[in-house]
Amino acid sequence: MAEHGPIFGAMLQEFDGAARILNLDLGIWRILTHPKRQIVVSCPVQMDNGEIEVFTGYRVQYNITLGPAKGGLRYHPDVSLDEVTALAAWMTWKCAIAQIPFGGGKGGIICDPTRMSKRELEALTRRYVAEIVDAIGPEKDVPAPDVNTNAQIMAWFMDTYSMHVGHTSTAVVTGKPVEMGGSLGRQEATGRGVMIVTREAAKHLGIDIAGATVAVQGFGNVGSVSAAQLSQVGARVVAVTDYKGGVYNAKGLDIAALQQWATEHRTVDGFPGGEPLAGEAIFGLDVDILVPAALENQITDENAGQVRAKILTEGANGPTTPEAHRIMHANGVFVIPDILANSGGVTTSYFEWVQDRHGYFWEEAEVNAKLEQKMCAAFTAVLKTAVKYGVDMRTAAYIVAIDRVGTVTKMRGMYA
Ligand code: GLU
Repeated sequence: MAEHGPIFGAMLQEFDGAARILNLDLGIWRILTHPKRQIVVSCPVQMDNGEIEVFTGYRVQYNITLGPAKGGLRYHPDVSLDEVTALAAWMTWKCAIAQIPFGGGKGGIICDPTRMSKRELEALTRRYVAEIVDAIGPEKDVPAPDVNTNAQIMAWFMDTYSMHVGHTSTAVVTGKPVEMGGSLGRQEATGRGVMIVTREAAKHLGIDIAGATVAVQGFGNVGSVSAAQLSQVGARVVAVTDYKGGVYNAKGLDIAALQQWATEHRTVDGFPGGEPLAGEAIFGLDVDILVPAALENQITDENAGQVRAKILTEGANGPTTPEAHRIMHANGVFVIPDILANSGGVTTSYFEWVQDRHGYFWEEAEVNAKLEQKMCAAFTAVLKTAVKYGVDMRTAAYIVAIDRVGTVTKMRGMYA
C-alpha cells in the first residue's frame, strides 16, 4: 500500500515492533503489511422520503493465507478505507492467535444507522451484498456483526447471497439468528472471551477476581456482555459509560437492570441505580480492571497517564494508540491486547461456520466449553511468548500471529 492513514499506521507501528524482534524476512514483511484486496462499492438506496441516496461501502480482504477472509461488517458515519483496512489486518492476526483456519477481512458502510428506518437498513444491506457478491462466500470471505450490525442484518445478508447463488448458503455469514444456522453462544461470545482472558490475567497477577472492581466503556454487545460475565464471576462492575454519558455505583451496578434500561433508552445515561458519570472520567477511575469496549483511539497520550487499573482488557478493536500503550506499559498496567482479548467473537464464529458446513448443531454448553479451551490456549501462548522475549502482551500477540502467518506464507511459497 503506497499510502495509508493513521489507523493503519497505528497497526503498522505495533506490527513493526514485533517484526523487528522476530527479525522478520523483508519479503514476508512486505507481504504481511499489504492488504490483499480492497473493494469499494457505491450502494444506491431509495430512502423512505422517496429520494435516492448513494452510500459508500468497503470490504477489505487483508490476508487469506490461513483460510477464507473473516471479519465483521460495521455501519458508522466515520467508516473509512483506512479504518476498514486496519481492522482487516487486526482480524488476520486475531484469527492466527486464536488458531482458527481463517484469514482476516472487514467491511464497512459509511452511514448513520440511528437515523435510518428498518426498511432503509434492509435495502442498504441487500444492495451492499449484491455489489460484493462475487467476492464473498463460505470458502472466500465470511462476514459477521460488528459495530451497529446484528443478527437481523446477517439474516438479510445470508438471504441476499443465497438468492444470488440459487441455494441456501448458511455459512456465508456468522452471527446469524439461531433459527437459521446461527450458533448458540455466539451473541455472548466476545464478552465471554473478555471475561475469560481477564480472569486468566488476574490469576497470573495474583489478583482475586472475586471482588475486583471493573469499569467498562461502551455498552453495546461487547461492553454489556463483558460487564455481565465479569459480575457473574464475582467482580464488581462499578462504572459504565457510553456515547451519551455514564453511571457509577461504588457498591456495584445491577447489570441486568442496566441492560434493561439501556434497551429501553438506547443509553446507560440516566440509569437510576447509580450516580451520573461523565464519559471521559471512566479512564481515571480507581478500579482493578478497565474494559474499553467502544471504538478506536479512546485511550491516547492525553489520557493514558490517568489509567490506574491493574488490568486493561481491550474489548474494542484498536481502543489504545501505540503511544498510549507505551505510557500504560511503563506505568505497570497489564494490557490484554484487542487481537487476543476480543477474539472470543470470531472463535465462536468459527464454531458457527463449522456447524453450518456440517449441518449439525451443538449444545450451548459444548460451544462454551470449546470457547473456554481456545481462549485459555491463546492466552497461554501469548503470555509464554511475552515471558520468552521479555516483551508486553501486545508485542507478544503480534509475534505469535506473525510467526504463524509468516511460516505458512513461506511453506506455500510464491506463485509467480
Ligand atoms: N466483529 C468481530 C471482531 O471484530 C467478530 C468478527 C467475526 O466473528 O468474524 O472480532
